[in-house]
Amino acid sequence: MKIAKLIGNSEVRIEDVPIPVAEPGFVVIKTVMSAICGSEMHGYRGKGNATGNSGHEAAGVISAVGEGVDIVHAGDRVAASAVVGCGECDYCRKGQYTWCPKFAGYSNMHAEYFTVPARACNKLPDDLPWDVGVLVGGDGFGVPYHTSKKFEAENPKTVAIFGLGPIGLGSVILQSFLGRTVIGIDRVTPRLALAKQMGASMTILADAETDVPAKIREITGGGADVCIEAAGSPVTAKQCFTSVRTAGHVIFNGEQGAVELSPSEHFIRRDITATGSWFFHFCEFPEMVALWRKGLPVETLITHTFPIDRIGEAYRAMEGESGKVIVTYG
Ligand SMILES: [Zn+2]
Ligand SMILES: [Zn+2]
Repeated sequence: MKIAKLIGNSEVRIEDVPIPVAEPGFVVIKTVMSAICGSEMHGYRGKGNATGNSGHEAAGVISAVGEGVDIVHAGDRVAASAVVGCGECDYCRKGQYTWCPKFAGYSNMHAEYFTVPARACNKLPDDLPWDVGVLVGGDGFGVPYHTSKKFEAENPKTVAIFGLGPIGLGSVILQSFLGRTVIGIDRVTPRLALAKQMGASMTILADAETDVPAKIREITGGGADVCIEAAGSPVTAKQCFTSVRTAGHVIFNGEQGAVELSPSEHFIRRDITATGSWFFHFCEFPEMVALWRKGLPVETLITHTFPIDRIGEAYRAMEGESGKVIVTYG
């Protein structure tokens, strides 16, 4: 079978390897679509991936099941969660795999077949198209959705989204669908255009001359109700705290190291809440499907599609001004 091998230094090659075998408790999935995640780009540009690729968002048809598997069957259409818990703790029983102390991560999903534990699989309803399934069955749309749940109860009117890569754009689609006024912020003009297409009411180009927090405070009359940090930069992390209204909520999506924040200035004196949000919960899949049935235009997040043989172009598209980039098989 074909598998994408990340060589490093922005090189990717197709290799021929044996189809994986279904170990006890595992399934083998014949891939229909996989999606490239922004988190793969560091390894793609740098050292590559010794075992193949870092692909961890995929959907397909189960081709083989290992011993003891009875929750899914050969022929089922499924999407796989790349983070899978032990299956036995309280978190796992609720489908909150990322909170399991023994969770494991799975990859190598940019391949014609891949293997995951059976409990990683969410069955796709018959009417759910593959392009929607691959996004709501993984972190492609899972991250924007899990993020949104962190402030669901507050029902904000204005949401400012810093960083309009695939994750930020997913939040643009979801938050505007939920009726919120969305302000999208990025340093790259074409990304602002994408955010507008996907539902943002307003965009701000974060160039050297623009005081972004002042502009957001002006537009919103005091600050956005929620600021989502999806750029992974210390500059935008701090800007979120000066762009959010008093008693507002800052959410961190973008991974990064230490940022200097003052408990007094950034939190205490304005009653600010800040929350981290990582990946999504396996149990959130049906909730995303329900929103799609109500009209959430999940598939508009996809801006590029390439067959596996052209996966090099798919990664290069991620370097540019893309939304979600999809890889297809066979
Ligand atoms: Zn990811
Ligand atoms: Zn567990």
